[in-house]
Amino acid sequence: MKYKAIFIDIDDTLLDYVSCCREAYDAALPEHPEHFQLFFDIAGHLFSEAKHGKYTIAEVMDLYPKEFIAAIGYPESAVEPFKHAFRAAWGETHTLVPEAKEMLDILRTKGYLLFAASNSFGHLQRRRLERAGILPYFEDTYISMDIGYDKPDIRFFQEALHRCGLQPSEVLMIGDSMTTDVLGAQAAGIEALFFDRRNNASLLELIKEL
Ligand SMILES: [Mg+2]
Repeated sequence: MKYKAIFIDIDDTLLDYVSCCREAYDAALPEHPEHFQLFFDIAGHLFSEAKHGKYTIAEVMDLYPKEFIAAIGYPESAVEPFKHAFRAAWGETHTLVPEAKEMLDILRTKGYLLFAASNSFGHLQRRRLERAGILPYFEDTYISMDIGYDKPDIRFFQEALHRCGLQPSEVLMIGDSMTTDVLGAQAAGIEALFFDRRNNASLLELIKEL
């Protein structure tokens, strides 16, 4: 086996980001389902700026509820309640990406050690993995708010390697973001597989050589 361990991104690699977002949004603002796309676009734009280092993920988590609430003309006092309602609902969302569980089964059966590697809040991501029934597949979870750095910062990957006690050459990263997962890991000397979810790639196809 070329690798001992695999780092796996969570959103849009294991859990379906759009479905989870929709579900959490509907729980947080049930009276305005028509504003979901606006919310999704505002959050998406800010997360994409974070990928390029303009904001930290922690900053974006505060910014997007604020921008969204202002965009729909609600008073500023609505920001905190919306943010908390969304976050609480988000922690319960757990729609799996097709073949995600099967992929984890195969990788575990082959003897790889699996670690989640995601940009978000640790407690929320662990809760979501648990709700999806896939938390037990992981030796540990490396989540940016716990690690102290966001992917693609090389220090995210260095700290993750430090925690699992492995060399970069012993690890493979799998994720759907070219910027944060693939290029980030490669900058830290870790080989990476790009899961091209937007083009309907298959996870099982992706890992068939492993
Ligand atoms: Mg992702």
